[in-house]
Amino acid sequence: MPRYAYVNGRYVAHGEAAVHIEDRGFQFADGVYEVVTVHAGKLVDEEGHLRRLDRSLRELQMPWPMSERALRLVMRQLIAKNGIGDGIVYLQITRGQAPRDFKYPKGVSPTLVMTTRFMNLDPVEQLNHGVKVITIPDIRWKRRDIKSVALLPQAMGKQKAAEAGAFEAWQVDDEGFITEGCSSNAWIVTDEGVLVTRHASNDILNGITRQSLIRLAESAGIPFEERAFSVAEAHAAREAFLSSATTYVTPITQIDEHKVGEGVPGALAGKLREAYLSYARSEGAS
Ligand code: PMP
Repeated sequence: MPRYAYVNGRYVAHGEAAVHIEDRGFQFADGVYEVVTVHAGKLVDEEGHLRRLDRSLRELQMPWPMSERALRLVMRQLIAKNGIGDGIVYLQITRGQAPRDFKYPKGVSPTLVMTTRFMNLDPVEQLNHGVKVITIPDIRWKRRDIKSVALLPQAMGKQKAAEAGAFEAWQVDDEGFITEGCSSNAWIVTDEGVLVTRHASNDILNGITRQSLIRLAESAGIPFEERAFSVAEAHAAREAFLSSATTYVTPITQIDEHKVGEGVPGALAGKLREAYLSYARSEGAS
């Protein structure tokens, strides 16, 4: 089956898809993106991702490249054209193509690129054994709430994680509190059984999976606190896990050199993953 990408109004062969060398995404990382999971051919948490996309665009004074309705349609057409059952839609919007100049150009149309990819949404090994994370200093800018394509600090962090045999790196602010993973939100369960994740602010990306998990935890009556937690608290946690669109809830069994709890995936993480999966299969998907 040929693989298509969508670029500025056209479906083109993935291998030949291209944007201009003076695209501001290429020159200034002047763009935003979203990753939406496709589960059994259906988009998961589509509303949340589109609301966050709208927010990212507004914060950067960028217009939508097309109507929201048209964008939803293109996502569905690309999923169908590429025969995606389980996988992702990646969409990126940049300010567009203009002669290189820092300030925002006038009268330029945004660039819209969309691709899809197959993905195993049920990585048995990771789920059975849990994954390792390391902690690293958070060296990013101060607008982490915007889902910008400027991801070099995260690429550096993920590389460090890979070199340490870890799945993810948890970034730590100047006060010793964990902000989030390089591409996921960070969660712990304290010894008292309280679920904790950092509060939403400019310090983190407010994950769409994170927001859905908070709703699910609250309706299940799970004790929950939205606050910063330190590296020491994470090392001493009963459970830990990470969340993102592509990993849902993934249990963590090692943080740096510390075993988390008994060193096996936690019960609460398992319960939340199940709750998220049944949400994704039902009204969460369209
Ligand atoms: N934080 C960061 C820095 C991320 O890149 C991601 C993944 N996009 C997340 C959190 C998780 O967000 P979501 O649940 O919307 O995928």
